[in-house]
Amino acid sequence: MTKRRRFLALLSGTIASSLVLSGCLGNPPDRSGSATTKLVQIDPAAQAKLDARTISLGFLPILEAAPLVIGVEKGFFAKHGLEVKLSKQANWGAARDNVVLGSAGGGIDGGQWQLPMPQMISEGALTNGKKVPMVVLAMLMSQGNGIAAAADVKDGDLGVDLKKTPGYFKTFAEKEGRKFRAAYTFPKANQEFWIRWWLAAGGVDPDKEVELLTVPTPETLQGMKNGSMEAFSTGDPWPSRIVRDKIGYLAATTAQIWKDHPEEYLALRADWVNQHPKASVALLKGLIEAQMWLDKPENKAEAAALLSSRKWYNVPKEVLQESLNGQYRIWADGKPINDPSLGPLYWKSDRGVISYPYKSLTLWFLIESLRWKFYPGVVDTIEQARALNDRVTREDLWKQAAKEVGVPAKDIPTGSSRGKETFFDGTIYDPENPQTYLNALKIKR
Ligand code: CA
Repeated sequence: MTKRRRFLALLSGTIASSLVLSGCLGNPPDRSGSATTKLVQIDPAAQAKLDARTISLGFLPILEAAPLVIGVEKGFFAKHGLEVKLSKQANWGAARDNVVLGSAGGGIDGGQWQLPMPQMISEGALTNGKKVPMVVLAMLMSQGNGIAAAADVKDGDLGVDLKKTPGYFKTFAEKEGRKFRAAYTFPKANQEFWIRWWLAAGGVDPDKEVELLTVPTPETLQGMKNGSMEAFSTGDPWPSRIVRDKIGYLAATTAQIWKDHPEEYLALRADWVNQHPKASVALLKGLIEAQMWLDKPENKAEAAALLSSRKWYNVPKEVLQESLNGQYRIWADGKPINDPSLGPLYWKSDRGVISYPYKSLTLWFLIESLRWKFYPGVVDTIEQARALNDRVTREDLWKQAAKEVGVPAKDIPTGSSRGKETFFDGTIYDPENPQTYLNALKIKR
């Protein structure tokens, strides 16, 4: 046994030891100036206790995936004996197709998802009727998304509250002879929900007054440059890049729309979790430690440097560092907002732990699906939404993982609800009574 292996084997898996470990396994300064890919040694003693040695996960190059990348780069998964193979997905449709294949078929076992994709893949609603049951195990990130508007609609001065610029979308259509075009990266999921929420709260009917379209994340920059869309909704660093490259401006951050909102999640194929419950817990342990690491201000620069490499995001590290710090530049008044509370949150906010898969939050995506009648035959009632949510969201493995990495009991939620949620315009989502929320929304189907 080498000295280091012995050292790894001695670690007990507490938070204190993870801090020691991250210091030991941390990447040395990169002298070459190119991206370093460090092969972090798997802890053999931890691996011997698991029911799987490896897992294949998909990710997209947006900040939601940061805990997965950091978990690999900083050895948080390896420490718990699990080799995580991360593969970049060309778009959300590719991720869906790869999870249907599973790693046995050359695809993936799960990874990063916009909700309600895992629920709908489980029900066959996105997969031509083929049901691939999945489980949602943790939230990857809160906030860190935005709605960018093109420079040529700067006259619209679009902000979080569109009621301040009444009639803009109608005027645009009259002037241009076509509707305002707004894009997202996958239809009927998370990012479409943000843009619809923003429009509808401002009294703009997203199905009548704008044209909505799907554009893969890496193409959003070029699309806006070419004028093929006036706005798009996606994860950082893309909205921030638009601003930096002077192609557009940030109209709203999702944190302004709904503070501490649920964003993307870790979800796996249910058959993988059922066959490998120990490895699933190991994965969650590494994830939780990566999320804790990411939230520490002193780690943001290193995180940006690691994520910026060609292998991962292939984006200038300065852009990532600004995004990670919540330093958004809203072009409308030219002044950067320097408010970390608007930036991405991985582990904790003043509402408590982010990572925990609260059923009250995963339910919201199904209630919002009901609002727009996105999945007829799958989610037609609140009762159906609740039943599907209960089938797909699992909280027990997260709790076990948190306990095993030494998360204090006060930080481990005991219930399934985070309570009532309040949006920027005062709208309240009460998970105990989603009908009241739906009734309060003026624009819906
Ligand atoms: Ca997102």
